[in-house]
Amino acid sequence: MKQFRETLFDDYTQIFNVDKIYYENKTEHQHLIIFHNAKFGRVMILDGIVQTTERDEFIYHEMLAHVPILSHGSVKRVLIIGGGDGGMLREVLRHRSISEVVMVEIDATVIDISKKYLPNHAQGAFEDPRFRLVISDGAQFVKETRETFDIVITDSTDAIGPGKVLFSHAYYKNCQRCLKEGGILVTQNGVVFFQSDELRHSAESFRRIFQDWHFYAAAIPTYIGGIMAFGWATDNTALRNMSLETLEVRYKSAQITTRYYTPSIHKAAFALPQYVLDIIEKKCKKNR
Ligand code: SAM
Repeated sequence: MKQFRETLFDDYTQIFNVDKIYYENKTEHQHLIIFHNAKFGRVMILDGIVQTTERDEFIYHEMLAHVPILSHGSVKRVLIIGGGDGGMLREVLRHRSISEVVMVEIDATVIDISKKYLPNHAQGAFEDPRFRLVISDGAQFVKETRETFDIVITDSTDAIGPGKVLFSHAYYKNCQRCLKEGGILVTQNGVVFFQSDELRHSAESFRRIFQDWHFYAAAIPTYIGGIMAFGWATDNTALRNMSLETLEVRYKSAQITTRYYTPSIHKAAFALPQYVLDIIEKKCKKNR
């Protein structure tokens, strides 16, 4: 049986048995593979790194979509940067009160191939009339656009290759400019145990740009190494401390069904282990 070995770290890896390869090719920007694994279903790989799997994607997508949307409470316009597999778009569009979602994805092939071989991710969301697609570099888009949004979601690859710019200070600063008053930026910030430098750099930028910032967390099995951090940055200091009662009312009235997200998980996700607090508060040495 063929196997896929992830190349994210030099000295530690995960290996998948590959039952079937649906697609493998070099796109204009990245090397894309979609294969089937008995435990995780269909798996998407970009440049040797696991992006998403059918089995555990719900944790990642629900936490990056519903946490900011339900904290905000009156979201109309959302910007997704990256997100080519369509899972984030699906979760955002579950909120019927949202009137427009703009997705800026650098690689059109990721979208085309996801529509064909990962249809359970978007579940038809690419056909929703509220969706608008821009094929472009997300960093360039936020630098140039005059549009503003209630929520910006960075659903990116890691801080290597085309995704590197989406972890830069300039990108975060431009995201702030694209937020409406009281808007929230949330980001994919890597697995803390192995990618602490990304987390530290993002924290340093957030501290310099936003009135309120923090990280929240969830464990997603195929992002190996424990908890993944999600960045939270806004100029509205009240939103992070939204009461459980308010979140419960909003969740109920949104009438969405979730498999990971609950209002209690939402609140608890912001409680971080001490080793993570040490990283974001610059108390630990580099590269630990
Ligand atoms: N859930 C995934 C994760 O945690 O790794 C992310 C999945 S999604 C497939 C990531 C998307 O970001 C890819 O489709 C990639 O093409 C896109 N992307 C990478 N760099 C980008 C950039 N600079 N601008 C816009 N999209 C970008």
